[in-house]
Amino acid sequence: MRILVSGGAGFVPSHLCDLLLGQGHEVVALDNFVTGHRRNLDTLSPNPRFSLVEGDVSKGVPVEGKFDRIYHMASPASPIDYVELPFETLYAGSDGSRNLLDRARADGARFLLASTSEVYGDPAIHPQVESYWGNVNPIGVRSVYDEAKRYAEALTMAYHRYHKVQTRIVRIFNTYGPRMRPNDGRVMPAFCSQALRGEPLTVFGDGLQTRSFCFVSDLVRGINGLMESELTEPCNVGNPHEMTMLQLAEYINRFTGNTAGILHKPLPKDDPTRRKPDITRAWQTFGWEPQVGFEDGVGRTVAYFRALMERGEL
Ligand code: UDP
Repeated sequence: MRILVSGGAGFVPSHLCDLLLGQGHEVVALDNFVTGHRRNLDTLSPNPRFSLVEGDVSKGVPVEGKFDRIYHMASPASPIDYVELPFETLYAGSDGSRNLLDRARADGARFLLASTSEVYGDPAIHPQVESYWGNVNPIGVRSVYDEAKRYAEALTMAYHRYHKVQTRIVRIFNTYGPRMRPNDGRVMPAFCSQALRGEPLTVFGDGLQTRSFCFVSDLVRGINGLMESELTEPCNVGNPHEMTMLQLAEYINRFTGNTAGILHKPLPKDDPTRRKPDITRAWQTFGWEPQVGFEDGVGRTVAYFRALMERGEL
């Protein structure tokens, strides 16, 4: 198949490109490099079935030829991005989704929207099931992401219902692994780089808030599984292995041998208190569940950041 991946130079989408190329497809990555990085494509670029187009999906889709599959993965995706890139975040979810849905409709392509656990906001039910409608602050600092993705879900369902486009919606939970931006502010790159530099790990608030971390190779396998399934309802993909941020900090310090301890910092506004996916739907529909254990995943992630440090990039 010929497949378009928007945001292809980003952390998660670059791994998705790897997977799709490995399956023998032709892959076109579209990226404006607002948060993506060319380095993420180093191993893909020599592949003759891979090409990269520079462009902003919220302004249009500057790529010729028909596609069979379109994965809309482009968006800033970390809490500090939402503050620094609010309009890029809003428009990637709104205009970007519209442009790609129009293209999917014209090409007869199947479309997948990368949505997010953030549509559940600060969730009142736990773990989060897809039928839960969420608890989102519509004007808060994170709202540019949360509401853009909620709008994108509504738009995707409208194209499905009214224009009969084949659509899929994946709600991605916290993900980690090689190619995360070291300075994107998210907890996993922050803790790994602080630990490798021998600094205390910055735990926000009391550190009792929870997250559930999925290794990136598991995640992209789940995203691809959903695309090739017949499920048009939204589907969670994430790892239910839940922990507090204090537990995570202690784990990373122990794993790296960092003795600098932790340093508490103020909790950002609207930081969800807990998050854990219910993945029954993914398991029952396309037989997906995570396979990479936490220790293994952390080992591979720390190795990536260590290599960056050795090159003077951390
Ligand atoms: N966090 C932290 N220290 C950091 C960065 C993040 O304690 O240096 C916390 C943050 O407050 C949140 C959790 O880690 O509760 C996950 O944050 P992240 O930015 O990775 O993603 P989120 O799940 O909030 O979108």
